[in-house]
Amino acid sequence: IHILAIESSCDETAASVISDGKVVNNIIATQDIHEKYGGVVPELASRVHQQNIVPVVTEALKQANINISDVNAVAFTRGPGLLGSLLVGVSFAKGLSLARNIPMIEVNHMQAHILAHFIDDPKPEFPFICLTVSGGHTQLVLVREFLDMEIIGQTKDDAVGEAFDKAAKIMGLPYPGGPLIDKYAKEGDPEKYSFPPAEIPGLDFSFSGIKTAILYFLRDELKGNPEFINENLNDICAGIQQSLINMLMDKLRKAVKQTGINRVALAGGVSANSGLRSALTSEAERKGWQTFIPAFEYCTDNAGMIAMAAWYKYQANEFVDLSVSAEPRLKF
Ligand code: ATP
Ligand code: MG
Ligand code: FE
Repeated sequence: IHILAIESSCDETAASVISDGKVVNNIIATQDIHEKYGGVVPELASRVHQQNIVPVVTEALKQANINISDVNAVAFTRGPGLLGSLLVGVSFAKGLSLARNIPMIEVNHMQAHILAHFIDDPKPEFPFICLTVSGGHTQLVLVREFLDMEIIGQTKDDAVGEAFDKAAKIMGLPYPGGPLIDKYAKEGDPEKYSFPPAEIPGLDFSFSGIKTAILYFLRDELKGNPEFINENLNDICAGIQQSLINMLMDKLRKAVKQTGINRVALAGGVSANSGLRSALTSEAERKGWQTFIPAFEYCTDNAGMIAMAAWYKYQANEFVDLSVSAEPRLKF
């Protein structure tokens, strides 16, 4: 069984083929055009998806050594994401389904980020807790089964990836700034500057306050020294990153305590962050948790994770018909 999976929820056009449950490739075209605008421009993203989707799919089929006629089902990201971006993937899938008379599988992008853990070993046993940290979401998810997940905590405002990106933007770094903050933080002292955590009850998060705190802190420092950012970039980045990680780890500890589940996974783009990965690893050593950290290529948006999710849905006979539509706020 070959399933072709498409991801187009934001600014990555991606395709992957999964053959009998094994992800055989993971093709991604990233859109650099948003860099100069300091964030993803939805109109442009949609247009670039339209340009990229056929070449990306063609490459995925080629690398899998199959023809379009060998594809048994087509999967796509239904949401959450940008409407104009999602529509490109949904429309492509509908066209292919109609032309080849093959079934369609809809995938929830946030579930797929978590199911990326089942692409390669080691695979977590159920149940486990997943901290999903990305550009649009920050969630603590209780994962009971492949397709049975419950959100037990989430952000009240900005996502943590957004906090990274906005902090970077304030400092004049290009989009997406998260990876750059990670890079500079490696050379900096995380104790020199710190930003107070939000006091949010339970397992929920808030990241809008820290963004404002960073903005005011830098504005005040720049008044005294216009070169403050340039001279202290590494330390500032290390301080911002450490403050964000502390907020994540604090809630993760609470989630483990509350559920009694000590199998813990990371998912989403921010799980590529080296500071977060090592914070989780050392906490796990102290507490005896079992941890699962995705390979870098499956942290940020990709179609391998969509393909993996689609495989479980294929086995569960969960197909959709041509009346399906993109859902920017899709829940699970
Ligand atoms: P969502 O999955 O919520 O719809 P998205 O798909 O845009 O959002 P992802 O592609 O999963 O998000 O992740 C992108 C985010 O990850 C960006 O905010 C980016 O800055 C952040 N990110 C990627 N690498 C790192 C890193 N090393 N350190 C910190 N943040 C990072
Ligand atoms: Mg992206
Ligand atoms: Fe994503």
